[in-house]
Amino acid sequence: MTVCSRRNCSKPAVIYQKYSGLHLCREHFLIDVERKVRDEMRKHAMIGRNERIAVALSGGKDSSVLLFMLKRILKERRDLEIFAISVDEGIGGFRDKTIENARRVAEELGVQHHIFSFESYFGLTVDDFASAGFEQAPCSFCGVLRRKLIEKKARELGATKVAVAHNLDDEAQTIMLNYLKGDFERLIRLNARREEFIPRIKPLRSVPEKEIALYAIIRKIPFTTAECPYVRRSLRFSVKKMLNDMERLHAGIKYSVVRGYERLVRMLPSQKYELRHCEICGYPSASDICKSCEMLTKLRQRLQHGD
Ligand code: SF4
Ligand code: ZN
Repeated sequence: MTVCSRRNCSKPAVIYQKYSGLHLCREHFLIDVERKVRDEMRKHAMIGRNERIAVALSGGKDSSVLLFMLKRILKERRDLEIFAISVDEGIGGFRDKTIENARRVAEELGVQHHIFSFESYFGLTVDDFASAGFEQAPCSFCGVLRRKLIEKKARELGATKVAVAHNLDDEAQTIMLNYLKGDFERLIRLNARREEFIPRIKPLRSVPEKEIALYAIIRKIPFTTAECPYVRRSLRFSVKKMLNDMERLHAGIKYSVVRGYERLVRMLPSQKYELRHCEICGYPSASDICKSCEMLTKLRQRLQHGD
């Protein structure tokens, strides 16, 4: 039996963190994950006074842990309000299961829960996009529209922050993805504070995905392991596999990708963005027509004319 590496602890280890060289028992593992989240929140001054925090709750393990963790860490803060927003993108056989779990988590934690759907807001679903014969994976459509819907509804509900459940793996993947696509503008924008949007916070960004799963199991947080039928078609999925392979051989590489990126961004002169609004929907946009309106227009044309 391997025992915990913490001083004076001889309890059995439940995890070996190759990147830190530590074996941790149940209690010390929970303390370690919660410390990482608290440190990240403090380092980036994520929560101020009298905030109204909208948590993007998909019902998967990461967002369920995020909601649990925020309620736990911020339980003494009477000045804060936390509520949850779920988005049903219309992905048959998948999203219904995760939304059901989101309902359960929100109810168990006593959090107000709002559910919005692509179907009722955009009149189209991710399944429509997937069946329209585009070369692009549905994820590009799904991600852009989900973000827009959450932003819009969070604003209507009076949120001052939107909390998203990106973990260390997601962060490292996003950075690598933008390098691989050569999309340096987006890469730099990842960390920029954009005045026109409600600030997004990522309290889990220094916790590896595997540890979030273990945390959920130990804390008995309900989550579903349902996998989106489109996930394997995305470039992100290939990047995820690549980073996992590299992490196995070179422990700590995901942390290096994220920390290295943070250092790089600090060296760059601060960027100014011209504030523009989409001519169709009025949403803040980098060009005349925002990405989501561009995608919706293409999709509607394809569905109407089949071209
Ligand atoms: Fe949407 Fe892609 Fe995620 Fe599925 S894997 S929910 S299509 S972003
Ligand atoms: Zn638009």
